[in-house]
Amino acid sequence: MDKYVIFGPQGSGKGTQSELLCKNYGFVHISLGDIFRWQMANHTKLAARITRIMNQGLLVPDEIVEEVVHARLEEHDWNWGFVLDGFPRTRPQAEFLFENWNLDAVIYLDVPDDVVEERVMKRAATLQDAGPSFTKRLDDTPEVLRVRLREYHEKTKPLIELYEEKRMLRRVDATQPVEAVFEDIIDLLKLAKPSTFA
Ligand code: AMP
Repeated sequence: MDKYVIFGPQGSGKGTQSELLCKNYGFVHISLGDIFRWQMANHTKLAARITRIMNQGLLVPDEIVEEVVHARLEEHDWNWGFVLDGFPRTRPQAEFLFENWNLDAVIYLDVPDDVVEERVMKRAATLQDAGPSFTKRLDDTPEVLRVRLREYHEKTKPLIELYEEKRMLRRVDATQPVEAVFEDIIDLLKLAKPSTFA
């Protein structure tokens, strides 16, 4: 059973690489953002607690995140393993993870800050030009993108140090094309190369 975390800034390709790993190796993709968006679309009780926070681009409080992750992993539908995408995003969340599950590795999709900033601001400008009706996600407006980026820099990026201490960090140059990034991940995780890519 392989247990991985995939982490990196906005637009680093976490979702795409998680999907590739899961399709090719049978792991379960657990995206916290997707779980929260599902809750909001279905107007659940949890949605009432997180909607305002998410729409502002802020991080959902740790205790809520931990409840959700715990419940999700307790489903044990991950016979081959899982890829956690968008979790942990804070130090307490990371400690919660290490206390409860034995992780194999953290895949870090490395994109230099200036490239991320440029991509995010370009995206923000495009959104501004297209007008508000163009955005599908309420947390994808220019102002909110800036808040999300700030949250990443302040709370999530410093986790690199912790992962390095635990010798779990597997750094990949995520400025490369999708296929090259995926091949680097496979090599770093020492996974058998699939005969055909899904
Ligand atoms: P994402 O799609 O991964 O960018 O997540 C969208 C939003 O969900 C974030 O901006 C946060 O508001 C919330 N969220 C997702 N994962 C977490 C987490 N681990 N901790 C706190 N908030 C989170």
